[in-house]
Amino acid sequence: MNNPTDGQPALEAVGLGRRYRGGWALRNCDFSLPAGRICGVVGPNGAGKSTLLALGARLLAPTEGELRVLGEAGNTPDLRRRVGFVAQDKPLYPRLTVAETLRLGRELNPDWDHRTAQRVLDQGQLDPKARIGSLSGGQRTRVALALALGKGPELLLLDEPMADLDPLARHQLMGILMAEAAERGTTIVLSSHILTELEGVIDHLLLVQSGRIRLAGDLEQILDAHRLLTGGDGSRLAPHTVVERRSTGRTTTALVRTDAPVDGSWESSRPTLEDLLLSYLRSPQTDTATDREAAA
Ligand code: ADP
Repeated sequence: MNNPTDGQPALEAVGLGRRYRGGWALRNCDFSLPAGRICGVVGPNGAGKSTLLALGARLLAPTEGELRVLGEAGNTPDLRRRVGFVAQDKPLYPRLTVAETLRLGRELNPDWDHRTAQRVLDQGQLDPKARIGSLSGGQRTRVALALALGKGPELLLLDEPMADLDPLARHQLMGILMAEAAERGTTIVLSSHILTELEGVIDHLLLVQSGRIRLAGDLEQILDAHRLLTGGDGSRLAPHTVVERRSTGRTTTALVRTDAPVDGSWESSRPTLEDLLLSYLRSPQTDTATDREAAA
């Protein structure tokens, strides 16, 4: 595929920070997201996920450092055309009908892909004559996604897109996003707190916590770099960097980094994405390799 972003990261943060009046929402963030990936941005409420996506959509400017988007450091009309963004509150015109909203999308975007936009709406069986103001939250999400996909963006930034969708609609939309990524090489960045929805969909991970990037990289490599250990003797965890340990009765379960050989007394397995994320989220203080690198 001849993509103008070939060889260039879709997003690249260097020393990125953003401060609001109340303090820093993001600080010292460094990461690189290769083009063509489906990246999950995960973290608790207030972690800085929306701020990061708004910086990517150029709705906000960094306070320090930079976030290159599709290779560009600034904010140009050309860049805005190449980036699609669906905000959490999905701003749409409530008085327009679904069909009128789509027509507006077509008129505003020279490269409008009506087939994709229509497919997103058809799956939701939306009445083209319905006014936006009369739609449910989930239906509005669908219209906002149809608009963003119809634009044919190289980079699609979605802030909690699945939050108000029912499970069937989530499944359908994940399918559309994956097809979009496969067919057109679109880079998709979606924030989510619904961890199970991300499994099998994302191939890149950004874990954001308290304004810092705790994990960033290829999902398979991150999972390979961890083991879930179950056993009886917690003192044998000493050689490992322990992300989280929990004990119930005589059994200890721990998520560790694979930085030391695993003692044969442990039952060892590769964590699932959910195991990994929950362990990190439950132990915000752990000094992980990323934390150490960031602090160096
Ligand atoms: P998340 O999307 O992970 O929930 P946000 O990026 O929305 O996190 O928020 C990160 C931090 O920045 C929070 O402490 C939040 O209160 C603060 N924040 C977000 N937006 C604003 C704003 N417009 N003005 C002041 N503080 C803000």
